[in-house]
Amino acid sequence: MMKKEIVILGGGISGLSTAFWFKENHSDFLLLEANSEVGGNMQTELADDFLIDYGPNSGLETNPHIREIISKIGLENEFIYSNPQGNKRYILKNGELQALPMSPKSFLLTKLFSTKAKLRLLAEPFIGKSEDGYYQSIAQFVERRLGKEFLDYAIDPFVSGVFAGDPRKLSVKSAFPKLYRLEEVYGGLIKGTIKGAKERKNRGEESKQSAKMFSMKFGMQSFAKGIAKYIGENVLTNSIVKSVEKHDNSYKIVYLQNNLEQEIIANKIISTLPAYAASKVFLKIDNELSNHLDEIFYPTVMVLFVGYEKQQIRRELDGFGFLIPTLEKKNFLGGIWSSTIFENRSNSRNSAFTIFIGGAKDQNRNWENPQEIIEEVLSEFQKTMNIDGKPNFIRHKVWKNAIPQYNLGYIEHEKYFQKFEEENKGIYLSGNYRGGISVGDCVKNSKLNFDRIMI
Ligand SMILES: Cc1cc2nc3c(=O)[nH]c(=O)nc-3n(C[C@H](O)[C@H](O)[C@H](O)COP(=O)(O)OP(=O)(O)OC[C@H]3O[C@@H](n4cnc5c(N)ncnc54)[C@H](O)[C@@H]3O)c2cc1C
Repeated sequence: MMKKEIVILGGGISGLSTAFWFKENHSDFLLLEANSEVGGNMQTELADDFLIDYGPNSGLETNPHIREIISKIGLENEFIYSNPQGNKRYILKNGELQALPMSPKSFLLTKLFSTKAKLRLLAEPFIGKSEDGYYQSIAQFVERRLGKEFLDYAIDPFVSGVFAGDPRKLSVKSAFPKLYRLEEVYGGLIKGTIKGAKERKNRGEESKQSAKMFSMKFGMQSFAKGIAKYIGENVLTNSIVKSVEKHDNSYKIVYLQNNLEQEIIANKIISTLPAYAASKVFLKIDNELSNHLDEIFYPTVMVLFVGYEKQQIRRELDGFGFLIPTLEKKNFLGGIWSSTIFENRSNSRNSAFTIFIGGAKDQNRNWENPQEIIEEVLSEFQKTMNIDGKPNFIRHKVWKNAIPQYNLGYIEHEKYFQKFEEENKGIYLSGNYRGGISVGDCVKNSKLNFDRIMI
């Protein structure tokens, strides 16, 4: 039976970046990935001059590790930053796209918020901490601190853009820990933002607001594939992990490789599997862990990628794209202007867009009939964007389990994960259901995990 010091489960960006640090450390490790390709959520396709990212389209360079990995794996030449135009973001209000204000002056002038809502923000520094902050949704938190209009026309669409989530269900403490911390530590968002910026500078980190947006010339999956190539034979694809069991003082991992059952004995296991997959794998070790993992909700999201000839589009594509507040009652969450943000997403005759549909607030669709959904959404999208005629290129993907929702009560899951790790020394639970869903957070957590394992 094969023996390894460390086995990493899952070859998405969490697993691969974790493996990267062990490779650098010359550790005895192996990574097992179920699919024939690495990347997990990072999935890119090149077709007819269009470059489609079905998962993350970009990442935010919130920590230095991303660049460190890119440079070490030799992909500096393919690492790209978004065009400056990509900084401008729009929100739909009363059927019109309004630019999100980025300066105090544009905030005073914007039609996105009423004068009353703007004045309401001035009260924020004087609002105290809430008693039950621990179990508050992001909607309750923002409404209390910033007012309802700010919730409806800033936070609600933002939450759709990041989590495809429902602000009334997402826990502020678990899903937006930095925001929560501003209130807990500094007593308010405005005070905290100013003081927090100084602290981040000392730690060499960037805030999500000021971090640069990046992607790869050949799409986000090339980041994952680049790490796997650098690691080499220690990444095993087509390897579906079935179970983990205790085996003396270590663990036995059973997996199927090309339909053949295999076993490995490992001293340490780092799982970066999605929660619903980890639930099955660890069932034999801890049934209650599986219950916690199964409770984590992953809504369905459809990603629709479309290309139009430039002459069909009767508005300027001068931004990142737009998000839609729930109050606007549209049948999609928003769209990004892919070929404006990054080079190489379409040929020069066309413009490419990525549209997001579904999410936690919109789960009663018949996902079995995507054509109907696509037609309905494109009709609304074209109206909003002032586009004539139909797209000349369409691709879509339905993510049945898209993004883990850090909903109210998540704290109980987090506490249990810690307890499980204490009781099962050598097993580490990671992946995007712990410590942040963004690509930047997954990479940051891989380094934190490596450091705590190597102590
Ligand atoms: C549609 C969409 C758009 C997004 N957009 C952005 C964005 O623009 N920016 C951003 O920062 N983030 C974005 N995200 C979030 C981000 O992409 C993910 O949180 C991140 O990529 C997750 O990485 P991961 O490695 O933790 O998990 P995953 O990517 O899910 O990887 C887990 C891996 O485990 C493997 N696996 C599962 N079961 C088994 C098994 N039994 N045995 C072996 N392997 C198994 C899977 O095949 C997969 O490769 C988006 C996510 C989605 C779905």
